[in-house]
Amino acid sequence: MGQSYRASAAFRKRGLVSRLSDLIWPPRSLLSDEIVDRPGVIEPGLWSELKFLGDPQCHRCGFPLQQDPGPEGVCAACAGRAPSYDTARAALEYDDHARRLILDLKRGGRRDGLPVFARWMAQAAAPALDKADLIAPAPMHWTRLAVRSFNQAAWLAQALARSAGKNWSPGALVRTKRRKSQAGLSASERRRNVAGAINANGRYGGKTILVVDDVFTTGATLEACSRALRKAGAAEVHAVTLARVVRPIDILL
Ligand SMILES: [Zn+2]
Repeated sequence: MGQSYRASAAFRKRGLVSRLSDLIWPPRSLLSDEIVDRPGVIEPGLWSELKFLGDPQCHRCGFPLQQDPGPEGVCAACAGRAPSYDTARAALEYDDHARRLILDLKRGGRRDGLPVFARWMAQAAAPALDKADLIAPAPMHWTRLAVRSFNQAAWLAQALARSAGKNWSPGALVRTKRRKSQAGLSASERRRNVAGAINANGRYGGKTILVVDDVFTTGATLEACSRALRKAGAAEVHAVTLARVVRPIDILL
């Protein structure tokens, strides 16, 4: 069964608007230039190469572990210095495939993957999402927003909130200082770079907040978000990202 058969079968099922837009711009796989039968899909060959994260993992930061650490077990990093968030989870390991998904979202403004990214993140952070009162994106400084015109973390937060039927607030967190680029900085340098740069906008007394970002690199940004929300009264702060750097690789975001 060829691509053309699958494409034509799907073609019949969809509405006129979708058909017309497909004639102009057929849906492409999220991971290649392959034409696919509907937006937001990945062909099976590449799908199986995505590295989804899950148990066993550090209960706190979600770092993948070799063995089950038990329900409250944590990784060596969290045992040495507990992060300010309650839990952080990521859907995917940050590799070349995840990098492509994120750069398309971040630099290309490609939105057709958002519903599927939301499903992956919902699965990765299921317990935190269940109890969250509010979903808040990691903020971008307004000068950066002015240049780029969108915050990809806000798109992810909105997609997750929609799919889970939760409230979200694009302005719950604000970046008050424009940070230097985080690229090439160590974990402690990143923490210093974002320290005090993020504030909560409003009061969140007793609330459970789920912070959303695109990539967990060292966790410094999410820690700054978490500290700001706790200062504003939040009882619990959890975090979820689309991808997470697991090995120290040179990332160019
Ligand atoms: Zn950990």
